[in-house]
Amino acid sequence: MDKSTEYQEFQRLCQAHGCRCTPQRLAVFLYMKDNRTHPSVNRIWDNVRQSIPSITRESVFRILTELAEYGVINRMDKITDARFDGQVSDHGHLICERCGRVEDFDLPPESLLPQDMHGFTTRHTELRISGLCACCGAGAKQAQNKEDTTRDKKECQAEP
Ligand SMILES: [Zn+2]
Ligand SMILES: [Zn+2]
Repeated sequence: MDKSTEYQEFQRLCQAHGCRCTPQRLAVFLYMKDNRTHPSVNRIWDNVRQSIPSITRESVFRILTELAEYGVINRMDKITDARFDGQVSDHGHLICERCGRVEDFDLPPESLLPQDMHGFTTRHTELRISGLCACCGAGAKQAQNKEDTTRDKKECQAEP
């Protein structure tokens, strides 16, 4: 998808929800579009500020919340901090409790849904598996005799 198609998609989204097509909204939208890195608010803010230096963290968070309401992204809660997912199709997440790293994995079709749905209409299915990522798991073994685990944590948070 080229930039002009993305812009048209953004314009349609704004029209459908009666919000203005501001450069701030566009920047957050473009950064999150098909983003598979499950970024935190701070990481999104850091990236958006490169094109819009004046944007505040509060504005970024408000726009992310809007986009989540519109179904363009998913908000992922109950992990180390609020994360947002640019992929809204059903998939699973491997969540590292130590460094906060989130990896996608494919779900088997349908099999996760309970037989009795109590009349509930599903919008999104997600399976979360928490534990230690390969990096933190290996680091934990190495760090058993070391007191300084914060250093391992920092190294692990680097982008792959
Ligand atoms: Zn980890
Ligand atoms: Zn994901």
